[in-house]
Amino acid sequence: MRRGLSHCRWKVLLKVGVCMGKIEKGIKCSVSSCEKSAIRSIAAGKVTTAGLKIDTERRAYLCKDHYKEFKKATKKDRTLEKWRHQGVR
Ligand SMILES: [Zn+2]
Repeated sequence: MRRGLSHCRWKVLLKVGVCMGKIEKGIKCSVSSCEKSAIRSIAAGKVTTAGLKIDTERRAYLCKDHYKEFKKATKKDRTLEKWRHQGVR
């Protein structure tokens, strides 16, 4: 499910200098209300699926804490996917 394609703020990120997978120093966590500096960039779609609230549809930046949260959430996701593959409808 993809939502929020209408309010586009990724242009701001482009100005900051985005390089796929790499993190420039000084980039902050993309999770709303989080001010920590980011350690990882992840496709925004994945981050929103994991249940984190972010302000971008391109590349999301996560701080250490939110990256942990993201990893936890994606683990859960995989369990759900397994269910689907087993034909539970
Ligand atoms: Zn954060």
